Amino acid sequence: MLVMMKSNATTDDVRAVCRKIEEMGYRAHPIPGSMRTAIGITGNRGPIEAAAIEALPGVGECVPVSKPYKLVGRELKEETTVIDLGDGVRVGGPELAVIAGPCAVESRDQARTIAAAVKAAGARLFRGGAYKPRTSPYSFQGLAEEGLKILSEVRDEFGLKIVTEAVDVESMELVERYSDIVQIGARNMQNFSLLKRAGKSQRPVLLKRGLSATLDELLMAAEYILAEGNYSVVLCERGIRTFADHARNTLDLSVVPAVQRLSHLPIIVDPSHGTGKREKVIPLSRAAVAVGADGLIIEVHHSPDEALSDGYQSIRPQDFERLMNEIRQIAGVLGRSVAPATVCAEH
Ligand code: PEP
Ligand code: MN
Repeated sequence: MLVMMKSNATTDDVRAVCRKIEEMGYRAHPIPGSMRTAIGITGNRGPIEAAAIEALPGVGECVPVSKPYKLVGRELKEETTVIDLGDGVRVGGPELAVIAGPCAVESRDQARTIAAAVKAAGARLFRGGAYKPRTSPYSFQGLAEEGLKILSEVRDEFGLKIVTEAVDVESMELVERYSDIVQIGARNMQNFSLLKRAGKSQRPVLLKRGLSATLDELLMAAEYILAEGNYSVVLCERGIRTFADHARNTLDLSVVPAVQRLSHLPIIVDPSHGTGKREKVIPLSRAAVAVGADGLIIEVHHSPDEALSDGYQSIRPQDFERLMNEIRQIAGVLGRSVAPATVCAEH
């Protein structure tokens, strides 16, 4: 059930309703909207007696939830969630969130070189794995805390926000200490203990769609995080496994408007993993922006042939600059924007 407060309800009214819900043995999730606050209720096994809540001051109405998820749905919150990372960087707002960087942090020099290039082209967020979920146990697994420290230096030197993956509950504490957004990768989308742990984090979470996950499964995975009290979740389409063999995965761009119809959470697109091929990254980035995604996450490497992971899908800095110029124009058509280049990169 959702409690819709009146638009003139005070914060004390909201607090009193939450207290009542907690007294009934449930958990209250107050979510402020632009017009009014809605309060989601979790922890109930059956229907809730609405009368006791409806009688409280400031309550507009109690409405049953028609979907299996309660907190990620648009029923709870009409407008898209905007996640504010500080310094004017937001995910879900009119400016597209462009996250760019290498698949993995390989060295300080590598990370700094790529950070300088993506920053110059207008990226405001930097990606790079310090813990890598690799198909083979013999592949490069990431630099772990050393990689996180390098990312932290990149933040300080270039003013970029840091997005990096936690592969398990054990790595979560370190990752949240050094990052601005914690990534949960495709292979972990249904790692329920990791989702619950991410729900207790103070950091926003980037949740990638599993390789064979349906839309409902993606939304229910996000629900795990919100149910623990972390409402800052960004969804990410990164391609799914199909019979198509011309690409590493099939980038399902139709999921973007489908998510936006059902959920208030922002959704970004990863055309790098979504295609697995460098030459497809720019065309699919253009398409992702055109379809209405709230941002992109792009693998960029200055020397992709020497990359320790995902080199074949990493674009070069000059291609990233072109990508940014092109999506800037497409975004404009849709009334959105892409941050300007900060310096003219030399090639
Ligand atoms: C990544 O972003 O580097 C990654 C491993 O992505 P995914 O979980 O989508 O495969
Ligand atoms: Mn990768």
